[in-house]
Amino acid sequence: MQLSTDPVITVRDGSFGYGDRAVVTHVDLDLHPGDVVAVLGPNGSGKTTLVKGLLGLDAHLGGDVELFGVPRRQFRDHARIGYVPQRHSLSASVRATVSEIVAVGRLPHRPWWRRASARDHQAVRDALQTVGLLDRADAEVATLSGGQQRRVLIARALAGDADVLVMDEPTAGVDAANQEVLATVLESLAAQGRTMLVVTHELEALELIVNRIVCIRAGIVDFDGSPQAYAAHEVAHARDHVHHHPHVLDEEPTTIVDDAGPLDAHEHRGAG
Ligand code: ADP
Repeated sequence: MQLSTDPVITVRDGSFGYGDRAVVTHVDLDLHPGDVVAVLGPNGSGKTTLVKGLLGLDAHLGGDVELFGVPRRQFRDHARIGYVPQRHSLSASVRATVSEIVAVGRLPHRPWWRRASARDHQAVRDALQTVGLLDRADAEVATLSGGQQRRVLIARALAGDADVLVMDEPTAGVDAANQEVLATVLESLAAQGRTMLVVTHELEALELIVNRIVCIRAGIVDFDGSPQAYAAHEVAHARDHVHHHPHVLDEEPTTIVDDAGPLDAHEHRGAG
């Protein structure tokens, strides 16, 4: 990891979407070293679109994106950014061991074992140790559970010694035991000072480590600030929502304003 105080990711008036359809617009964002940011928002609001757009994987329609101070289109130092996608392709048809998958994060050109140095092997082992899967290093990845496979993908992102980790729903669809392991892994990465941008529905799993929340709603960044400020923002937003849509009180008398925590209120609207 290279330590610096310069922004890791900078976006100015970014717009992200598909074809000629913009999904998220007017995005201004600076991600600083050591930031642990949760990206929240209702289903389909554009969280995945935003992170993919930042990384140039898809979906960048306009505005300026810089990665480590370099315009994204000219950025070549891809190992500095580890990406854990939401949908992964470690299906039953992938015949590779856990180590081989993790090594791809470090040596993207196969066959890695012919080119791997002792240091590369050690980096793979260290990454597996971090996610608690060292004892499965030689197992075929298809034999692992979904939660373990997500940990393999995090290890893959770690093996390249990335300065920043971008993770899309790392805890989604994962059983409770694996969620706990994942939360611990993310906590230890945050304690190391890793910069992280995490799309999530399960803020509770990350609340100990997140120092900033970015919320996407109705096609814009609706909130960007501390978790404390976010809680107040959500309460105000829920009140405003009730004010403009009083019928919601008839449907579910106490859900939004009185009983629900800010996230519950937010999830409620996302589902509606
Ligand atoms: P979120 O991550 O917040 O659930 P997404 O970024 O996945 O939201 O999706 C935002 C919007 O973009 C949705 O309307 C979705 O249907 C649309 N979308 C997502 N991926 C594609 C794609 N590859 N092509 C066209 N539209 C897409």
